[in-house]
Amino acid sequence: MPLINKSGFGALWCNELSSSHWTVSLISNVVADTRSRCMCKYPETPSIGTNHYLCKNFEGMVFLTRIEHFNAAHKLVNPSWTPEKNEEVFGLCANENWHGHNYELYVTIKGEPDPDTGFLFDVKKLSGIINEHIIEKLDHKNLNVEVDFMVGKMCSTENLAVGIWNQLISNLPGGVVLHAVKLYETPRIFVEYFG
Ligand SMILES: [Zn+2]
Repeated sequence: MPLINKSGFGALWCNELSSSHWTVSLISNVVADTRSRCMCKYPETPSIGTNHYLCKNFEGMVFLTRIEHFNAAHKLVNPSWTPEKNEEVFGLCANENWHGHNYELYVTIKGEPDPDTGFLFDVKKLSGIINEHIIEKLDHKNLNVEVDFMVGKMCSTENLAVGIWNQLISNLPGGVVLHAVKLYETPRIFVEYFG
């Protein structure tokens, strides 16, 4: 399958994909389906998707990541289920008396370096924005009851990553392009969201 050999690894990061597509055969189909719908900077160039790390349409682009940290408490409980079913599905995370995680947040922006500074964006300003709009709302908080953008949502790491993305999108300056939010719940479990 030449398409996969040339570009399939990049397709793993394409936002056209969901977890159900993480097989070689389905990646091949997605490559074919997205070739004519590329939204990258060189739309006339055949591509494998619209939002992926390794597409050749990102030539010249730089990806800058800032890492931040926060601690927070939560529990995973579906209120329409019985306690038994919640415990069956969520295990220890359904503990009625809460539990905590040490979250690591990776925020990646993309673009081309400014010719005057060599920077994609001032990383201190990026850190300040993340801290003001994300960390101060989450750190040492109860995610289920104290965080405005998580109200009414299941407090999974998946939903938290999406919530963080939406907060950042509305608070980044014009011209700063958000590429990915990666959120570690534990050193061995993380979620990535590409908008
Ligand atoms: Zn948990």
